[in-house]
Amino acid sequence: MTTRREFLGQMAGLSVAASVSAATTSKAQTHIPSASRTRGMVQTVLGPIDASKLGFTLTHEHIADGPYFFKRWPKDWGGKAEFVARSVERLKVVRDAGVNTIVDLTPYDVGRDIRFLEEVSRKSSLNMIACTGQRFLPPNSDVSMPARTIEGLAGFFIKEVEQGIDGTGIKAGVIKIGIVGDHPAPMEEIGLRAAAQASRATGVPIRVHTDAAHRAGESDAAILEDEGVSPARVSFDHSDDSGDVDYFLGLVKRGYSLSMDHVHRGLLPDVKPSFERRAECIKLLVDAGFADKIFLSQDTGFGASLLPEEKKDWRDKLDPPDGLLFTTLKLIPHLKRLGVREQEIHTITVDNPRRFFSRI
Ligand SMILES: [Zn+2]
Repeated sequence: MTTRREFLGQMAGLSVAASVSAATTSKAQTHIPSASRTRGMVQTVLGPIDASKLGFTLTHEHIADGPYFFKRWPKDWGGKAEFVARSVERLKVVRDAGVNTIVDLTPYDVGRDIRFLEEVSRKSSLNMIACTGQRFLPPNSDVSMPARTIEGLAGFFIKEVEQGIDGTGIKAGVIKIGIVGDHPAPMEEIGLRAAAQASRATGVPIRVHTDAAHRAGESDAAILEDEGVSPARVSFDHSDDSGDVDYFLGLVKRGYSLSMDHVHRGLLPDVKPSFERRAECIKLLVDAGFADKIFLSQDTGFGASLLPEEKKDWRDKLDPPDGLLFTTLKLIPHLKRLGVREQEIHTITVDNPRRFFSRI
C-alpha cells in the first residue's frame, strides 16, 4: 500500500518553496521585542484567545491538508463547497461531543491550506491552532533542503508566527518538527535548531514527531537543550509507539511532555505495542505523578477520512474507526476503567494544553 508519507510526499508545495527559499536568504530576526508578544494568550486561526478558553484540546491532528484530497479526487465531492460543507458537518459532530480545540500539526510541506483551516474553524465553532515548522519528507520534497540554514528556517518560522501564513494574517501558534529516525538527519537537525530558536524568539511551544520505539526523544532533547529551550516548551509526539516506561520517565523527569496520539494503532493485530499496553503506560505515568506531562490525541488525517469508500483503504489502516472522537469515545473510558480519575483526565485534556500553548 502507499504509505501516508509517500502519498503526502508527492504534494510538497512548489508554491511555498519560493517563500521558504526567500526566507533562507535573509537573516533571521531572532529577537522579537517582548512587548509585542501576547503572553498568556493562544494564537488560533481566528485570532488570539485567552488560554482558559481552549477547553478540551486534541493536540496533534491533521485538518489543514483536507483540500489536497479534494483536489486529488475532485469528481467524488461534487465541488469545493460541498467538500467544505461536509468537513464542517463532521467537525460540528466532534464539537458537540465535547472537543473544544484542535491543534493542527500540518506544516507547509505536508499540504497545509491555511484558508481552509480558518474557514472550517469559523463555520464549525471549533478552535483551531495552526502550526509552522517542517515535517521533512525526503526525498519527495521539491524544496532544496541542503540550501537551507538554521537562520533561514528560523526566520521563516518566526514570520509565520508573527506575521502570518501564505500571505494571510492567519498566524501559527505552535512549531512542529518531524524527525523521522532515531537520530536527526543533518537537515532535520537544522530544522530542530531552527525550531528551538524560533520558539525562544516568539514564546510559542514545539511539537516533535518522534520515532519513540527507538527512543528518539533522547537525541532530540540533547539538541534542544543545546539551543537553550526549556523542556516545558517541548512535546515529543507519537510517544506511545514505545512501550518502555523507563524511556518515558527519563523524559518527563527532565520536564518534557509526551503526546500519546497513536494509541488506536495498537488495535491492529500486527502493531506493537498493543492498545492495552499503550493505555497501561499512560496509567503508569499518571500513577508516577506525571499527569501534567501527558497529551492525548489521534494524529488523524481528517481530509482522507472523508474519502469515498473505495479510495480510503490505506488511510483506514492509520486512522481510528472513530476518527477525531477515538480519544473521547474509546481511550478515555478505557483509562477510567484502569483507574485514571476524572480530575487527572481533566489535567491531561484541559489544563496541560492551556499551559503548554500559552505564549510565554
Ligand atoms: Zn501527525
